[in-house]
Amino acid sequence: MIYLDNAATTCIIEENASFAAKNAKDFFNPSAAYAQEARNQIENARKTLAEYLGASADEIYFTSCATEANNWAIFSGATKKQKLKAVTSAGEHASVYESFTELSRRGIQTVISPLLSDTRVNADKLIENASCDCGFISLIHVSNETGAINDIGAIFSEIKKRNPNVILHSDGVQAFGKISTQVGGLGADLYVVSGHKIGAPKGIGALYIKKGVQIRPLLFGGEQENKLRAGTENVGGITAFAAAIEAYSRRYRETNFTSLRESFLQILYQADGINLNGSLDNSVCSIFSVSVRGVKAEILQRVLAEKDGVIIGLGSACSKAKRGNRVLEAAGKTKLEAEESIRISFGADTNLEFAKQAAQLIAQRIGALRQNCH
Ligand code: PLP
Repeated sequence: MIYLDNAATTCIIEENASFAAKNAKDFFNPSAAYAQEARNQIENARKTLAEYLGASADEIYFTSCATEANNWAIFSGATKKQKLKAVTSAGEHASVYESFTELSRRGIQTVISPLLSDTRVNADKLIENASCDCGFISLIHVSNETGAINDIGAIFSEIKKRNPNVILHSDGVQAFGKISTQVGGLGADLYVVSGHKIGAPKGIGALYIKKGVQIRPLLFGGEQENKLRAGTENVGGITAFAAAIEAYSRRYRETNFTSLRESFLQILYQADGINLNGSLDNSVCSIFSVSVRGVKAEILQRVLAEKDGVIIGLGSACSKAKRGNRVLEAAGKTKLEAEESIRISFGADTNLEFAKQAAQLIAQRIGALRQNCH
């Protein structure tokens, strides 16, 4: 199998699997007085994550996933009481975008800022929307659809100059472990990361809450996570997350994704009618999206998996029931182009040989599918 859907999830980093096994044995509830070892492990993991975000440990809150952390940030950060509007972009992951739909159902004024054709936000429009009647902004750092990087540091700093009281949130799930996510430089008040995108098991995420930013508790009924997120901690997930950060970001740095992407596309383009969605500039080289003229992406994905053992993505795995692609369409693609779009996402373990082999198989399969249609 050649796995090229790492934006959906990653294979667990091997040395990390032992954490899950260890946790099955060390089953103590970390809140119990006799479970100091588990407590220490959680606090060490918190320090590691804080270090990678340039934050302090008491600004890190573990959650069950990034979806939870995004929901928590949004529903707590954007409040009806203040009568201030909440602003986001059309390029967000569903966990942000649909939270905004819900905010608006609850009577909060929301604004969705448009995208440029490369799927980054139109920064001028976002900044314009972020004037003083705006209380909360959410902007994705790296697009899970195309790998496009929003220049969070520059955009947030411009917004803060004009509106110092606004709360700035960013979904950093696809950025973490790949590019700098030092929250100080980004100017984020709230920042979200997820374990399973960087080689940790599923079921662990975190929210960075800048000191001084007022956030309401998400869950009640326990004193965990500084009384803001009650519930027995996922010790295995938390420790595996921390262990994965170092291993994943090191491997990621050591892989030449620019050359992997170049070689892959060179071979894929031989199939004709392949168009890049977005741009090769201002993006992480490990995630990209192309439309394949005349071939439905869903069919291509299924046939490649069944016949060639090549796993590709169609975009956000969280919206598999929906046709088209909201983000690509917001960037000017037609519904048909969106339905013909595949997402390729390399992982820290993808090598050149596999990437080339996969591109060859995909190009051949596209040719065969097109022939079948005639
Ligand atoms: N945000 C982005 C950009 C994502 O790509 C994903 C996962 O696809 C999420 C949030 C949700 O992450 P989780 O699966 O941890 O809830």
